[in-house]
Amino acid sequence: MNDSQFEGPRWENSSEYSDLNSPEFSADFDLLKKKVERIKEHSGLFDDELERVKHLSEFDIELVEAAARMRGLTDEAFVVGANLGTFVSCLLSVNGSHAQARNMQAVLRQLMTSLEESLTSLDLILTQAPQSFVGACLKRSEFKPHEFSIEKQREWLPFLLSLSEERMLTRFSVNGPDAWGTLYDNVSSSLQCLVELPGEIKKMGLARAAGCAQSGDRAERIAGYRAVENAWSTQQETCASILNALAGWRLDEYKSRGTKKNLHFLDRPLHGCRINRSTLETMMAVVEENASVGRDALSLKARELKIDALGPWDLFAPPPQENAEAAEEKMSFNDAIELVRSAFADVDPQMGEFVDVMVKNRWIEGTVSDTKRPGAYCTRFAKSRTPRVYMSYKGTMEDVGTLAHELGHAFHNWVMRDLPLPETWYPMTLAETASIFAETVVSDVMFKRAQTQSAKRNILWGELGSAEAFLLNIPARFWFESELYEKRAERTLSPDEFSELMSKSWKRAYGNTLSEMNKLFWCSKLHFHMSGTSFYNFPYTFGYLFALGVYAQRDRQGPEFYSNYVNLLRDTGRMSAEEVARKHLGVDLGNPQFWQDSILMVKKQVESYRGFVGGA
Ligand SMILES: [Zn+2]
Repeated sequence: MNDSQFEGPRWENSSEYSDLNSPEFSADFDLLKKKVERIKEHSGLFDDELERVKHLSEFDIELVEAAARMRGLTDEAFVVGANLGTFVSCLLSVNGSHAQARNMQAVLRQLMTSLEESLTSLDLILTQAPQSFVGACLKRSEFKPHEFSIEKQREWLPFLLSLSEERMLTRFSVNGPDAWGTLYDNVSSSLQCLVELPGEIKKMGLARAAGCAQSGDRAERIAGYRAVENAWSTQQETCASILNALAGWRLDEYKSRGTKKNLHFLDRPLHGCRINRSTLETMMAVVEENASVGRDALSLKARELKIDALGPWDLFAPPPQENAEAAEEKMSFNDAIELVRSAFADVDPQMGEFVDVMVKNRWIEGTVSDTKRPGAYCTRFAKSRTPRVYMSYKGTMEDVGTLAHELGHAFHNWVMRDLPLPETWYPMTLAETASIFAETVVSDVMFKRAQTQSAKRNILWGELGSAEAFLLNIPARFWFESELYEKRAERTLSPDEFSELMSKSWKRAYGNTLSEMNKLFWCSKLHFHMSGTSFYNFPYTFGYLFALGVYAQRDRQGPEFYSNYVNLLRDTGRMSAEEVARKHLGVDLGNPQFWQDSILMVKKQVESYRGFVGGA
């Protein structure tokens, strides 16, 4: 049987626009251009007023009026721009070489950037003005949906520099940190790997060589890993320069911003993730105390793969041969949808009906084609507030998981569809709550329905992988990065020191479960080299354990769970993670027990796998 027998449906976006040449698209595009023009004209006023920001008060009635008009206009423009942008990127996902869509995407990006630029002064006024002025603004309906984000912005007030300094920093970043990030992208996209397989040496790019990690053939996994390692070992000086520069730049920036109040290198990432430092410290401490859960998962994998100790090249190995039959089992799209629908309906009938809505309206793209871009995502149209799910559905068990995951995201969007858009922008820490919840619900049902032992083992194999990824791998990255900032505050680090630090962090997480540590991980992992964000790691572990914590409440709360769950999702864009948890789950994220309970669920899955393998 070929993939097309299993493939999913084509999505239907003509309810938004029939195509790029349609009168509706042109009308919205013209409207956006006009609005952006008008907004630009108005923005001059706020540039001028910024000079006397400290003296503003509620008596500046005209300025409050103008600010409300500006806010209303930009929100309207944003909705139109986002709608057009989503339509264009949906077209490009299905056909990456759509020339007209590519041009349009570039034009739209430029318009949206100038929209954001026009808003900079007003944003700064709302961050820096005395409370009485901001209070007067917040009484206006145009500002209401922005209340939470303004409040969050104002927490950052002690760390703001003067306007000219802020502008200079933004301008200099282009040839500073952004350029270092670009250097990494250029190196990694041009790096060639020599994969030594029995009887032949294959030359390939990094992505393909890294793909060997998923091979069922161990020799191929090792060859892929060594090839990637050798390729990166030639780039150590470059990567060390990038990491030293990015961390050094950030530390300098934090020092300049922290003259009134000390600014720690974790403060900015934590602020963006809307959690506080003690929550992170509590979670990480519980994770470290429970390292045995992830390590046990790895020992089980080693036993199943009949290997004494796994190497870093074995972490993504598929389940062993005995389970292969189950792994090859395929599920048609309709059966998968039925499975997800009934699993969702078990939580609540309305959640099941949501899946019907997605199918009936053809909001899921699941076809298989060479022109499609790889990957899966969930998006939404800002005007109709309807979600879309994008993937290539080929019928594998992994595809079923992806479908459940993305439908979870779509459900999150769906329950927020009546909220003002600015109240729906949730942080990375809370972004995966609905998706991981959905995946867990569906995999539970799959496990119960599985007919054979090997099918059950196959489902649990994925859970062993999650235990390793979120409880060992991500913490190792976090410890590495934390220590890097501490050391970098004193001096720059050499490539050997980076490797030592990485090995030490891996050892701290993995203990004795691996035959060697991935010491060049500081070169090969993109996340350490991104100019826009630091600590692109702990939110993953947070999201995973938080979603499991939410899931644990399902049995505990019984019939009341569903409405609490929906209300929790609705608040993810307008509260801190701690507030969301306190209000809707009645739990304190600063209490180790919450994290301990989530890890206990992972431990049960690991133990359940052990039940199949037998022995201690
Ligand atoms: Zn996701």
